[in-house]
Amino acid sequence: MNEPLLTVLGSAAPFPIPGNPCSGYLVRYGKTSLWVDAGTGTLSELQRHVSLRDLSALWISHVHADHFADLPALYYAYAFGDVSRETKLPVIGPRGWAQRVSAFVTNDVAHDMGTVFHVLEHDVDELANVGEMRIRGQLVAHSAPSYALRVDVGGRSFVYSGDTGPCEALTELATGVDLLLCEVGCQDPLDVRRKVHCTPEDAGKTAADAGARNLMLTHLAPGLTGDDALHRAATDYDGPISLATTGLSVTI
Ligand SMILES: [Zn+2]
Repeated sequence: MNEPLLTVLGSAAPFPIPGNPCSGYLVRYGKTSLWVDAGTGTLSELQRHVSLRDLSALWISHVHADHFADLPALYYAYAFGDVSRETKLPVIGPRGWAQRVSAFVTNDVAHDMGTVFHVLEHDVDELANVGEMRIRGQLVAHSAPSYALRVDVGGRSFVYSGDTGPCEALTELATGVDLLLCEVGCQDPLDVRRKVHCTPEDAGKTAADAGARNLMLTHLAPGLTGDDALHRAATDYDGPISLATTGLSVTI
């Protein structure tokens, strides 16, 4: 693999539908595989593309179920499955993510995430590199602490919005990026949810203001069709716009 590749593992929100898990993406370059968000159903989809033995790291934007609910299942894979690794899988997420997952899988015996994962937290631990990838998280505007991600590798750059309303922090992170993967979780510009999710117009404007070369839309608001999202995102952005669909792989 000479060029970094983005594969969509799922883009449904806020619940999975047949053939489309919730939010999850895979960024690959050479032997490095970075799983980004573990939404419901993405663990299964992930294994079409990389084995759990070879996965390099998992990055979690925020601990809403449609972005991290497959983590307990991933814990089961490493704790009780026949998956052996040479090193623990680095997992970086918002503060307290490991306690949240631990509380879910525990009944009478504590399950310490540190036994199978290398537990890392945004703004606490530095995880600047995953293999050859340089990565940076950025706090954005959501109803829970939520991070956007930038990956620079192989002379290309990628930004994933996580869940966020339109904000300077996302625009700044996406400056000059080759591919911006942006959520469009808000349909109505007058909806109060626009504080925590982007409309298609917001995604397009963010891409335009940041000078992003390509825009991909994901996490469509309930009731928002793909055609509408594409059309509306083009209001302020004249670059190529695509839709995140499960199984899609594109060069970054
Ligand atoms: Zn969310």
